[in-house]
Amino acid sequence: MNIALIAHDEKKEELLKFVNEYKGEFAKHQLFATGTTGLRVTELTGLSIHRFKSGPLGGDQEIGARIANQELDAVFFFRDPLTAQPHEPDVSALVRLGDVYNIPMATNIGSANILIKGIIRGDMQNA
Ligand code: PGA
Repeated sequence: MNIALIAHDEKKEELLKFVNEYKGEFAKHQLFATGTTGLRVTELTGLSIHRFKSGPLGGDQEIGARIANQELDAVFFFRDPLTAQPHEPDVSALVRLGDVYNIPMATNIGSANILIKGIIRGDMQNA
């Protein structure tokens, strides 16, 4: 599967911990990420990740374009709902495209735990 990882700054530690916990599973997939998120995940886990631009510099839009081209199967997007983001329009556009194309997208650790378990069980193949 092609899986995208994105975390706003205040959520990066949480995403790093999550990906590290499921490193063995993530290693089985093609991973994509916004710039800083991808760098931090690779530094911590050694996972190979295709990195787009940093989110505020267009990375969210690059991931949105991949969704529009139906090249992504799942997105883990740890959003920070308590901090204003300069690229909020890009964030909204990314989430919107996820809904347009019915992409499983976890936007917090609660849904991320469920989504990764579904991926491990192979539920995505049956969707
Ligand atoms: P970053 O972008 O991974 O480059 O920090 C994330 C975002 O804010 O969209």
